[in-house]
Amino acid sequence: MTETYDVVVVGGGPAGSTAATVVAMRGHRVLLLEKQSFPRYQIGESLLPSTVHGLCRILGVADEVARAGFTLKRGGTFRWGRNPEPWQFSFAMSPRLPEPTSTAFQVERAKFDDILLRNAARHGVEVREQCQVRAVVEDDERVRGLEYEDAGGTRHTVHARYVVDASGNTSRIHGKVGGARVYSDFFRNLAVFGYFAGGARLPEPHAGNIFCAAFDAGWIWYIPLRDNLTSVGAVIAPEHRAAVQQDPRAAWRSMIEACPEVAAKLTGVPEATEAPYDQVRVRKDYSYWKQSFAKPGMVLVGDAACFVDPVLSSGVHLATYGALLAARSINASLAGAVSEERSFAEFEARYRREYGAFYEFLVSFYDMQRDEKSYFWQAKKVTSVDVTETAAFAELVGGLMPGEAGVGFRLAEAAADLDSAVGRLATADDRRNPLYASRTVGDVFRQGRNLQEEALYGAPLDDTEPPVPNGLALAKDGLGWTAE
Ligand SMILES: Cc1cc2nc3c(=O)[nH]c(=O)nc-3n(C[C@H](O)[C@H](O)[C@H](O)COP(=O)(O)OP(=O)(O)OC[C@H]3O[C@@H](n4cnc5c(N)ncnc54)[C@H](O)[C@@H]3O)c2cc1C
Repeated sequence: MTETYDVVVVGGGPAGSTAATVVAMRGHRVLLLEKQSFPRYQIGESLLPSTVHGLCRILGVADEVARAGFTLKRGGTFRWGRNPEPWQFSFAMSPRLPEPTSTAFQVERAKFDDILLRNAARHGVEVREQCQVRAVVEDDERVRGLEYEDAGGTRHTVHARYVVDASGNTSRIHGKVGGARVYSDFFRNLAVFGYFAGGARLPEPHAGNIFCAAFDAGWIWYIPLRDNLTSVGAVIAPEHRAAVQQDPRAAWRSMIEACPEVAAKLTGVPEATEAPYDQVRVRKDYSYWKQSFAKPGMVLVGDAACFVDPVLSSGVHLATYGALLAARSINASLAGAVSEERSFAEFEARYRREYGAFYEFLVSFYDMQRDEKSYFWQAKKVTSVDVTETAAFAELVGGLMPGEAGVGFRLAEAAADLDSAVGRLATADDRRNPLYASRTVGDVFRQGRNLQEEALYGAPLDDTEPPVPNGLALAKDGLGWTAE
């Protein structure tokens, strides 16, 4: 028997739960298929305020997330760039978003993702776990549904007006949407990560910050998840793959030893022995984007659509923001308020712009770290972004601004701006934070801040430029677009 829904979503991670919930909030029939049983492990534990105070509030789950006991994250602490001393980055950036509304959490993703998935079910989404999507059903005109296999191995067909692929970075379903997955040469990295049963904390009020420290071979994250649990991962060049694959734990421990700031925090601390934190895992964390995020009847969101280097903790933000945009476009199209073509164009333009902002920021951020002897850091200079990549990137974000010499020029300017802002931190007074005065930092957090303001005050407080000329406006309920 073939079932019929308005929308079927593949994947119960943050992107899938968000898209499903926002469509269900408009009263549509939504089915979400997840191949695993939740709660399940995932990496990506450090969140941004836009997720906690923006997206989670829109989804009606902010209070539950706040009660879950996650570590409060006020910002980031970095040993990075020309300053040999660590510097802080606090989220409480503007008087409009003071600290209580501008913090984030360090989360155990099994718990966080489970909260979002159960919240989707409470909003009327039919959630089926242990159901793996095997194929996309389509004809010459459009995508019409999916085929999946349940836990008992029975194959089912579901028809739907829209399919949302939120199946993460390893699934191949995205291949149904045209265009290649373009891999960045600049952000070709490898991550090896595991957990310690404790570890020193930064002094208050920064004890919950993510700490990122650059060292010769790359950089290390140090994320305080609980008093007795710290996530520690090294991001390194793929040239280390053979050593990492041969003995991941030994490679991980030797990276930590090579980074004195992190090694000092872990002196005498045992590795975690509780599952799922007792393993050392390896992930290619190459950055990529799909040339196209949608086709008639189908959209890609989250890691299925694009991913960019984790140093700024942007993965869950980009995944859930993209899913929110996709859901708004589907809702607008289902309501007949806007044509599918136009509402999908709006989704793509806004999502690409946000991805592009993080990509550009991160190139500048890597450029700050200077280490003439290190292979890793030599390859992470603005000047190392190759021509093919900048051309592909210009295509992704919709070309160049009038009068601009090229993406390379824009990246170099952003790198200089960021380096100078961080350089001014040491002598800054408390009244004006040079980071927030910098255009580069302002640009990367603009959409996230808008999302926070939208959730808190009903709309962004600044007039925002539409990302598409003659673009669509947000509907009154915040769940779709209107053409006014
Ligand atoms: C090394 C590293 C560190 C990171 N650190 C951070 C960080 O600190 N902060 C941050 O915000 N982000 C971080 N990220 C990024 C983050 O992990 C992802 O961006 C985020 O998990 C994407 O969410 P998603 O919902 O798109 O995908 P996922 O969370 O991967 O969820 C996809 C779901 O789809 C399911 N699925 C897959 N195939 C099928 C199928 N065929 N049928 C049904 N279900 C299917 C999977 O089981 C899974 O549950 C990091 C990434 C890496 C690689």
